[in-house]
Amino acid sequence: MVSQRIIKQRESLPIFQFRKDIIDAIKNQNLLIIIGETGSGKTTQIPQYILESFEDCRLIGVTQPRRIAAITVANRVSEEHGTRLGDEVGYCIRFDDCTSSRTRLKYMTDGVLLREATLDPRLEHYEIIIIDEAHERTLETDVLFGLLKETHRLRPELKILIMSATLNVEKFSDFFNECPIFVIPGRTYDVAINHHRDAKISSLKSTYVQRAVDTALYIHTQEPPGDILVFLTGQSEIERACLDLDDQARELNYRKDVKYYNEVKDLVIYPIHATLETMEQKAIFEDPPKGTRKVVFATNIAQTSVTIPGIKYVVDTGFVKQKSYDPSTGMDALLVVPISQAAATQRAGRAGRTAPGKAFRLYSRESFEQMEIETVPEIQRSSLLGTVLSLKKMGIRDIIHFEFIDPPDPILVKNALKQLFLLEALDENGNLTPLGDEMCIFPLNPFLSRVLIASARQFECSREVSTIVAILSVEEIFITPRNGEKLFEAYERRKEFYHHLGDYVTLLYIFEGYRDSGYDRDWCRDKYFNYRALSMAKNVRDQLRELMEKHGIPIISCGQRDDEDVHRKKRSKKSYYEKKAKKYDFAKILEAFSSSYYIHLAKRHPHRAVFYHYASANVYTSEMVDSNSSLLALHISPMSALHPDNKIVKIDNLDWVMYHSVLYTSKALMKVVSKVKLEWVEEKLKLFKKLETVNLDGDDKRKEKEVKSDSNKNTVVEPNKLEQENDVI
Ligand code: ADP
Ligand code: MG
Repeated sequence: MVSQRIIKQRESLPIFQFRKDIIDAIKNQNLLIIIGETGSGKTTQIPQYILESFEDCRLIGVTQPRRIAAITVANRVSEEHGTRLGDEVGYCIRFDDCTSSRTRLKYMTDGVLLREATLDPRLEHYEIIIIDEAHERTLETDVLFGLLKETHRLRPELKILIMSATLNVEKFSDFFNECPIFVIPGRTYDVAINHHRDAKISSLKSTYVQRAVDTALYIHTQEPPGDILVFLTGQSEIERACLDLDDQARELNYRKDVKYYNEVKDLVIYPIHATLETMEQKAIFEDPPKGTRKVVFATNIAQTSVTIPGIKYVVDTGFVKQKSYDPSTGMDALLVVPISQAAATQRAGRAGRTAPGKAFRLYSRESFEQMEIETVPEIQRSSLLGTVLSLKKMGIRDIIHFEFIDPPDPILVKNALKQLFLLEALDENGNLTPLGDEMCIFPLNPFLSRVLIASARQFECSREVSTIVAILSVEEIFITPRNGEKLFEAYERRKEFYHHLGDYVTLLYIFEGYRDSGYDRDWCRDKYFNYRALSMAKNVRDQLRELMEKHGIPIISCGQRDDEDVHRKKRSKKSYYEKKAKKYDFAKILEAFSSSYYIHLAKRHPHRAVFYHYASANVYTSEMVDSNSSLLALHISPMSALHPDNKIVKIDNLDWVMYHSVLYTSKALMKVVSKVKLEWVEEKLKLFKKLETVNLDGDDKRKEKEVKSDSNKNTVVEPNKLEQENDVI
């Protein structure tokens, strides 16, 4: 039974009075755009209106850019609908399918629908597809736009609905054959905007968290009742801010310091970030206890995806954590960057949903004016590796001319093609190879699918590699406490698992420790491992193995019992792997990883603990790298077993390493680092050389020329030359 309270809530949303008009518009149009203020009820209500009015509709698919939004919304809607989650209303995100044969409304990430479209461009299962939060312009949403246009040609009866906040919609309509736009009339209230007097955004990077906390405290002590929403960029920041504000608020002398003491006697503080637990607290969506004020520290998710009622004050730090293509490594990095003016306006708007509000920007008006007008779509700033592979799988040869709403930079497309060639997923003419075809089986980063297939087909260690790949596909498994003493303890506990060959093997041993504990939560807590991440990794591993079985890809172990090791076990040794009776053929595991990660090969400086890319970066990005630019110095992350301070391996014995990704702090840190032997990768490195002669973007010579003429000013650095340069640095 649905409670009266929920029915009332639903009926009080701005969208409710337009219910019939919306349904009529959807009945009359197969391509339709619906826009409305954030919080008006698009995401939760429109799919339900459709459920209630199109009784024989089999399946409605609704995409969300964020995993956590897909889950939260499905949860809420199943509650509003009065059914169990996974029944009539469900969700599906990568590695977590919570739908059943009874499901008629499926919330999913745009990535999931993209994969489904790769397998079935007609999307036969669906009768209605809704692309929600289209204004976010994620990479996946943008690619879906192009694909859906084709689906519309193939299956004109499929209803396609694009939902968006009030931004940029003419562009969507132009793209979708000038289709009609339904505007949900909004009612918003004035928001008074306060800029900082003179703070330049560029100078705020190291202080904005503290300033945000101070501002929240200022509002709490000086402003009338009303809840506060603070925009920060990520989990660790948000956790820190919650603690700091809590500490500071405790020290207030309420009677004296808090102006509206009679109405707000206390603070209740909530975090919202990409992990689910925070969203599971229903209290975030409810009014705080009487006499208190709610403060929510949130990532960008609260900008348009999730609406928290009651917000009267917004604190905008001006920053966001954003995926950005890093030309020096050929990979995406998550960087904290200033937001756009459009984003700042959206953020401020969150304060005026139900009554007039106030926004406090930590940066000056001048800084606001210097911001980009709009956020650059993700497709124009991220690696297109997975996207290009999917498009190739769909038989789209000429990717540069694929119908994108905003085409990506041809250089990004070319770089993705090059990487796929280096992974041997594409042949010299840019056609998908059988290996590339097999890589599409797995919903993984193409580097990892390549490794998994190599471990099964070539190196006979896919049982172990599937575990490591699974860990690399979930959130961070290490917990890094803030408190110094605990941090030290966490590092000490972790050391037990460190392996001298590096982090791939270390991860395997951590997983085995977890398994031997009986997948125990307390064991994880004791060792400072993230239980949720490890249990998710177990789940992902099982799903990968299921896929392997289904597609006839062998699951083979390279483990063997070793008597000598059993013997050694008796002498109490410190490290976990030395205590274990089971031994693996580590060379095979690392060789399997090197089949992709030779692309991230780094060579050590002859005398120092600094590494340089061997060939990868400079070959991919020869068009982008200024010939005078110096090589990027890479350091081993302190989280790695191979970090010199851990004394697991002597730095002199570490000439060549491969790394998983690069994290930028004050230095460029290689994350997940392993030893590699040059002889394993020598053959592969020749592919770099071949890159100069291949024609990967199919038959499109004209475009090729354009790209070339743009980049004539830069020189190509050859791998061999690089090596020499490395030696003399
Ligand atoms: P839109 O998609 O137009 O931004 P939504 O459908 O997401 O709007 O939200 C409509 C209303 O439902 C908002 O007022 C929001 O506060 C409320 N709401 C959304 N999710 C939840 C939830 N999990 N719990 C309680 N209320 C929610
Ligand atoms: Mg929405």
